[in-house]
Amino acid sequence: MTTAHPAILGGPPAFPDGLPFVRPPAPPLERVVARLAPSYERGVLTNGPLVREFEQQAAEWLGVPHAVAVSNCTAGLMLACQALRPAGPVVLPSFTFSASAHALAWNGLDVRFAECDPASFQLDLTDAAARLDGAGGLLATHIFGAPAPAGQAEALALGAGIPLIFDAAHAFGARLAGRPVGGFGDAEIFSLSPTKVVVAGEGGVVATRHDDLARHVRLGRDYGNPGDYNTEFAGLNARMSELHAAIALESLDALGAHLDQREAIANRYRDGLGHIAGVDPQAVPTADRSTWKDFTVRVDAERAGIERDLLVQGLRAEGVDTRCYFFPPVHQHDAYRRQRVDLPVTDRTAASVISLPIWRDLPLSSVDAVVDLIGGLTGRGDEVRAVSSASTG
Ligand SMILES: *Cc1c(COP(=O)(O)O)cnc(C)c1O
Repeated sequence: MTTAHPAILGGPPAFPDGLPFVRPPAPPLERVVARLAPSYERGVLTNGPLVREFEQQAAEWLGVPHAVAVSNCTAGLMLACQALRPAGPVVLPSFTFSASAHALAWNGLDVRFAECDPASFQLDLTDAAARLDGAGGLLATHIFGAPAPAGQAEALALGAGIPLIFDAAHAFGARLAGRPVGGFGDAEIFSLSPTKVVVAGEGGVVATRHDDLARHVRLGRDYGNPGDYNTEFAGLNARMSELHAAIALESLDALGAHLDQREAIANRYRDGLGHIAGVDPQAVPTADRSTWKDFTVRVDAERAGIERDLLVQGLRAEGVDTRCYFFPPVHQHDAYRRQRVDLPVTDRTAASVISLPIWRDLPLSSVDAVVDLIGGLTGRGDEVRAVSSASTG
């Protein structure tokens, strides 16, 4: 690899104007306005024909009979979980976003965290199986847009006689061995927030094969009101507005090309990083299709010759914005620490990950540059640590 002078060691930064971590794929404004106009001019501002149209198209994409639009993924998770009534603690990964756990906690459920796989970052189903005694449900996340081992998760939940839901926030358009994510388990819940792949501004989708679950979520997003104001249960206001549906419809129109672009970017990263020891991209089975919502690598400090945090600092000095998804892991959040569960694999994984810039129009030349910068920083952990500790005192 090139050993140009890294910026953190005094060289000029590679991206003086900065390379952003994400650029939300906001559809063209004039198209959104044109889509919205018919509803808007009739005074239909929420839960109208655009929401219905989005639900239809989403159901087709996902290959499910029901796609229920909601105001966000967190509310969708809460309502799906309320419908399924787990009769005990729910087993879920700690290596996920906090909302996976929060949705369970809001239903008054105890959460039981399990380990992740250190290469794929997915829920470790062997470890999850060992924690199922007395459990009332299972939740798995499709991490960074790569499908979780959903067939095995289904077998596990079926054997235990408990419901299974997927936090599919990252995974709209993902495929597991050719089959679209969306129809696995009892429900799969997607996010349409700005950093995701399909965007509405704020929004979510609950996908399910079950008529009764879909009905519960439809009522539940509207206070639990079946239409006569005699509410059947304590619902939420989790409706999607027509404006959000207009953005989501435009975003969906662009999804095929968008996914191809993300895949090309991910492949470029993978090819380049393949030549750098100790910086290993998320392992995704070749039969599967990820959305590459995030492109995340694991830094093995010994082999890479630099620790994760120093590599992050080195990239920041070059102007490259990164994130450490998911650090800290959820079982270490103040909200859940009282559980005192020991998850060494998750702790090690969360302490070694970096998510690199990825967005729809990220130039492949920028990907190459980031790879070169990483190559230039590996093996120089001692030098970087020296300037880093000098500057932090
Ligand atoms: C973004 C995200 C959520 C929350 O989605 P919202 O639409 O913001 O509620 C849930 N789970 C995961 C894994 C996420 O990344």
